[in-house]
Amino acid sequence: MHLTLSWRNIPTAKTLFVMIFMAGIGLIVSIVALLYLSLHLISTKTNEIDEHRTALSVQGAIQTSVNRVSSLVIDNAVWDDAVRELYSPKLDTEWLYNTWGAGFKINNLYDGTFVLDEHFNVLWGSFQSQPFTENDLSFFGDGLKALIDKHSNALSKEKNIYAGITRTRHGVAFIGIGLVRPMVGPLQVSGDMRRYLVITRHLNSQILSDLGATFQIDRLNYTPNKINDMSMPLNSSAGELLGYLNWQARLPGAQAARAASSDITQIVTLAAALILLFILVSSVGLYKLARGESQARLVARTDWLSHLPNRRALIEALEQVSLRGDIDVKSVVFIDLDGFKDVNDIYGHSVGDDLIIAIAKTLRERVPPGGMLARMGGDEFAMTIGGDRAEAQASAFAGAVLDFLNAPIRLGDRTIHISASIGIASGTLIECTSSELFRRADIAMYHAKMTGKGRVTHYDAELNSAREQQLALEDQIRGGLERDEFDVWYQPIIDARSQKMTSVEALVRWPRRPQGEIGPDAFITIAETSGLIYKLGQFVLHRACSDLEPFGDLKLSVNISPAQFRDPEFEDKVANVLDITHFPANRLQLEVTETYVLENPERARSAIVNLKALGTAVALDDFGTGYSSIGYLRRFNFDTIKIDKSLAGLVDNDEQAAALVSGTVRIANALGMAVVAEGVENEKQMKLLRLAGCDQLQGFWFSQPMPIEAIIELRQVRQC
Ligand code: C2E
Ligand code: CA
Ligand code: CA
Repeated sequence: MHLTLSWRNIPTAKTLFVMIFMAGIGLIVSIVALLYLSLHLISTKTNEIDEHRTALSVQGAIQTSVNRVSSLVIDNAVWDDAVRELYSPKLDTEWLYNTWGAGFKINNLYDGTFVLDEHFNVLWGSFQSQPFTENDLSFFGDGLKALIDKHSNALSKEKNIYAGITRTRHGVAFIGIGLVRPMVGPLQVSGDMRRYLVITRHLNSQILSDLGATFQIDRLNYTPNKINDMSMPLNSSAGELLGYLNWQARLPGAQAARAASSDITQIVTLAAALILLFILVSSVGLYKLARGESQARLVARTDWLSHLPNRRALIEALEQVSLRGDIDVKSVVFIDLDGFKDVNDIYGHSVGDDLIIAIAKTLRERVPPGGMLARMGGDEFAMTIGGDRAEAQASAFAGAVLDFLNAPIRLGDRTIHISASIGIASGTLIECTSSELFRRADIAMYHAKMTGKGRVTHYDAELNSAREQQLALEDQIRGGLERDEFDVWYQPIIDARSQKMTSVEALVRWPRRPQGEIGPDAFITIAETSGLIYKLGQFVLHRACSDLEPFGDLKLSVNISPAQFRDPEFEDKVANVLDITHFPANRLQLEVTETYVLENPERARSAIVNLKALGTAVALDDFGTGYSSIGYLRRFNFDTIKIDKSLAGLVDNDEQAAALVSGTVRIANALGMAVVAEGVENEKQMKLLRLAGCDQLQGFWFSQPMPIEAIIELRQVRQC
């Protein structure tokens, strides 16, 4: 499995990065938009304010012009000289001209002066220094008429001056009218005689430009028609639309915006750079974090030794499939190495590790496409695969693994023999959960282990109930040890020549099992596979040594299971029991089976050497059930060989068996080993076996196994 770290397999980091990136870009865009929008708003607002101000100024300019005309009328009409001249029976036109008519040329403050009588008829007038010859007011337009109509009453009495705007025949004009009257006191004239002074000032480009200059309005001008949105209507005093006043907007906002835009561009650039820097820094941080997380995830899901996915990864993978509701068949192949523990014990853990690595590598090469291999821990591996061909592929894989493991494995200069017990379970994930599939494969593997190892077993329901019974028994053994339900009985071993009981074999019994007593054959194997044999074996050894300790001449044989023998501390434990019980080592013989010796010759040899060093004897139990020859077994230096009852029991009616027994005895004796024949059930067998040269005999013919009290009694009887 190649697991390389990249953005691709860190989806969360990538998503986060995209989010931060998008957020950053979003931020930049918003900042830019905000700045420019507010700039635009400020500039438009400034322009609007300025426009408004200018409009007010234009209004002010117009009003000022009207006021000026009004002031002129006051200055000239409220004047004692004028009263005298105008209310005289005959108008002095020369005076009038000199006083008012010529003024147009001099000061340019007005362009027309007119004197009206009480009926508002023109008595005298001068327009642009020319005599005005019209009598009625038609020249002056509706503006003047409106002023007069509105104020005719007041005009004749008050000092008030009325000014406004009108359209004369000459054009648009500011116009004012006021009663000619003395500065002080009332007007003293006969009847309703009245003289009014009218002053006009026509709008022209000069006036507009002067007003523009005064009021800071650019290019103030007049047009008869509206030319843009800013054009301001100019109404006469009569309310008629005279035309429009226009000017050029200065747009100070736009100017300011132009002036500020380079600063803003700098700010935006700086902000963008800062945000990009932030994105960069946080992305790097994020990447590191995600990579750390992903590495941690990877580490948590990878077996440190084989670099295969571990149990957790495999279960997760299978569960992910089940979450998807996969209806495909899934197969689980469970592999447990046989004899791996011995490799560890004999060659040390580093060789064990190398072996696991080598096996993991080869297994990986054999995984079918789509399969996933994991190391489940210790010497266990599992492979899962799904699809229509899952079962066939799983079987093929299991077969390939067995083939590979059946051949010796070379590790450096060592050749290691190892095998595997393999269980296979298949099913859809609708039928059973992924953990159930694992459990089934485990049961099948266990069955393979129990039925001889080095084989493949497919799960079926019967295996399950067998396994469940085994598990129940395991629990019962555990409880039985705690509750002291076990006893040790002894079977006499008789000296063939003297017919005396020289020794006893300790055999475990379970009389106080609540579910009923069962024989050791039914529970020893389970105690072995569950590891409970260590405790049970210790119990038997301890009990037997203390039971037999008082009977100085009686030797003791104790069965040791392969699992116990594998324990590197086994010899120490034996020494310890001997120490505690004060049982002399030379009275003790340990019985080992051929199976273990053949599986672990190195460890067996060293254990035997160590036990012999303690002074304890070692016997090969059940000889004849296995395949090894006596010659092969000589190098282990057993003190005794126990011929199994399946062979010894045949001597009375099978010549070949009898010949095999006597041959064995001869060789054993020649090698200095004593021979015990087991399962002597009748006199004929007893005689034949004695004749064959067996040193000791054991069997129901002499005695059944019995409690220590019965042995003591029997001993007294026999000694008598
Ligand atoms: P084993 O070591 O071969 O022990 C002898 C077995 O043969 C005993 O069975 C004994 O009762 C039986 N036997 C003795 N004489 C005769 C006979 O004349 N005919 C027949 N048919 N059988 C005879 P048991 O006590 O049921 O033990 C069965 C096996 O369980 C033992 O075989 C031994 O392998 C194992 N075992 C018993 N006790 C212990 C123990 O404390 N530790 C270990 N590791 N294994 C034990
Ligand atoms: Ca035995
Ligand atoms: Ca035996």
